[in-house]
Amino acid sequence: MRKKQFKTESKRILDIMINSIYTNREIFLRELISNASDAIDKLSYISLTDEKVGMDRSEYKITVTPDKAARTLTVSDNGVGMTEEELENNLGVIARSGSLSFKEQMAEKGDDTSDIIGQFGVGFYSAFMVAQRVTVITRAYGSEKGLRWVSSGAEGYTIEDCDREGWGTDIILDLKPDTETEKYDEFLEDYRLRALIKKYSDYIRWPIILGDETVNSMVPIWQRSKDEVSDEDCNKFYKDTFFDASDPLSVVRVNAEGLVSYKAMLFIPGAAPFNYYTTAYEPGLRLYASGVMIMDKCADLLPEHFRFVRGVVDSPDLSLNISRELLQHDRQLKVIASNIEKKIKAELKRLMDKEPEKYLKFYNAFGLQLKYGIVNTYGGKKELLQDLLMFYSAKEDKLISLKEYVDKMAEGQEYIYFAGAESIAIAKGLPQTEPVLNRGYDVLYMTDPADEFVVQILESYSDKQFRSVNDDDLGFEPENGSTEKEEDDEALFGFIKETLGDKVSSVKLSRKLVSHPVCISTEGPVSLEMEKYFSSIPGGEGPKVKAERVLELNGGHPVFAALKEAYNTDKEKAAGYAKILYDMALLIAGIPVEDPTALSQEVWKLF
Ligand code: ADP
Repeated sequence: MRKKQFKTESKRILDIMINSIYTNREIFLRELISNASDAIDKLSYISLTDEKVGMDRSEYKITVTPDKAARTLTVSDNGVGMTEEELENNLGVIARSGSLSFKEQMAEKGDDTSDIIGQFGVGFYSAFMVAQRVTVITRAYGSEKGLRWVSSGAEGYTIEDCDREGWGTDIILDLKPDTETEKYDEFLEDYRLRALIKKYSDYIRWPIILGDETVNSMVPIWQRSKDEVSDEDCNKFYKDTFFDASDPLSVVRVNAEGLVSYKAMLFIPGAAPFNYYTTAYEPGLRLYASGVMIMDKCADLLPEHFRFVRGVVDSPDLSLNISRELLQHDRQLKVIASNIEKKIKAELKRLMDKEPEKYLKFYNAFGLQLKYGIVNTYGGKKELLQDLLMFYSAKEDKLISLKEYVDKMAEGQEYIYFAGAESIAIAKGLPQTEPVLNRGYDVLYMTDPADEFVVQILESYSDKQFRSVNDDDLGFEPENGSTEKEEDDEALFGFIKETLGDKVSSVKLSRKLVSHPVCISTEGPVSLEMEKYFSSIPGGEGPKVKAERVLELNGGHPVFAALKEAYNTDKEKAAGYAKILYDMALLIAGIPVEDPTALSQEVWKLF
């Protein structure tokens, strides 16, 4: 007999389970049945290509057996079983995402386990909520001998060889003794077990046998008609299957017949998983061919820009014994993927139009993914995605769609105006927006680093081109009327340029400024936001992308008059003013000044 310790992390979960006073401990049965069902899925998948399995699909089953005399409850399956190594790896450590994300949530929540246990696939360990000892007898597919794993909790577990007829696993629970307040005997009662199986495991696709009867209806939830399945059922299925603590925002059901027939149940989550924007997040839909699970996360079914969608696809038309590599090139799969893309788009559009609050929630979580979709495909998905985008409207003070912008454009307005800034607050203070807003035109604030790339790639929406408020040509003549240069202005601008050196590429009289004395704009394709974006990429020595900065001055402003006066009478003072104006323009644009001490020294001189 081999005695082993649990890994530390497992110990902690084990502790929680053993000492749990969680009233919903009944979910242990759901967890064990779900493991049994996965094990059968695996063997039935192997049997597609390996004749030696020699099992008929109808022979697979999960058996639940209470024994009142021995006070044990046994859950058995004739699935794939576990080798000794698997026993160690799967039951000795926290094996999979379900248990892992549970652990992470536990860490966040401190010791208040009450409302999270039920939301996660807490897995095998949940058996310890009801059992004082758990025995696992298992024989892996292809293995000659069986193994017995026994644990009474935190001290560890033992493994020894044993006999077992056929492949599969028995999980034997020695139930905890009843106490005044805690009753475990109920898990030996047929009626109670039947109710639990119905409640949590009805859609498991393999028969769950209690006594001599199959208790579950076995029809997976996505195979049932809409009126048979409540929203609550769908939400529960989603939460249990995809380990999300909250309901999905929306459920899309597809029942396609035609070129390729398939059923799908797709979920749009309400929040991004914590690892969503990292490579740790694995996108994909669970794929079944005629009820046999072929792949847990089939990424080829989901386009990158909709990778947040969770769900299942089940098709009788997919060839069963196709290898995963071949699947990628499968024509039917491509048809399904392209249909699914359309369905998701339609649902998101519906949410946007009909349930705007939900859409906002969605957009806050996954809007960035849609923008990446436009940028990464170099506009290839423009038609699909542009209607789903939202940007912050200066006039409406909230996110609006491009369609809303265009629909509300003023008479004579030719362009969709936008202003790049780091935040809404900074955007609101940008002097350049003033002439556009004064004219009654709305401005979209672009505050995501991706935004300006999106705009560059989109170029236009509904035949209206995008135009930055920085652009020299706004498409109308701004009303400040101060663009007429006086003769000596050229010399002044030359002087300022000389003073500022290569910080700016030019200095000029602004056509746009209204009440502000100064602003920074850019020439050429690189905006300040892009420059900031590139310089924020860690790892440093990439190409230095620099915006060509233009210092614009408002010729009608008293500050300009003072500057001119200084230039004519005291060049040193004028140089100081020029430096201050440049730094102020940077601050307004949300860009840190390069040398704050030098700036303050110039300001002190004014006193
Ligand atoms: P999860 O189900 O979230 O992976 P569990 O703790 O429930 O976590 O199970 C850990 C692993 O142990 C499973 O992923 C599976 O590989 C293995 N396992 C559990 N029960 C069985 C079983 N009845 N047959 C075969 N393998 C099993």
